[in-house]
Amino acid sequence: MSKKSKFFFIDCSEAADCCNKAQYEEANFLDKAKLYIHLILCKTCRKFSQRNSKLTDLLDKSKIEPCPEEKKQQWREEIKKEFAEERT
Ligand SMILES: [Zn+2]
Repeated sequence: MSKKSKFFFIDCSEAADCCNKAQYEEANFLDKAKLYIHLILCKTCRKFSQRNSKLTDLLDKSKIEPCPEEKKQQWREEIKKEFAEERT
């Protein structure tokens, strides 16, 4: 592998880092480009990033809405389901 292509082909742990940064808008253009390339190539990380953004959505929603207990319970169930699916 040439130095240049190695620069763009990151491993899974680095991709997870970029993904987390992207969630919090801390990723720069290069991080996003590298993550994007990795997600095209790596099925595992694609799944991880999808789950990650879903979880962030859930957290956002639960913060914005005045949250009744039964709604909170619903978020918990959904999160639990996500992780259960991951394991099977
Ligand atoms: Zn990966």
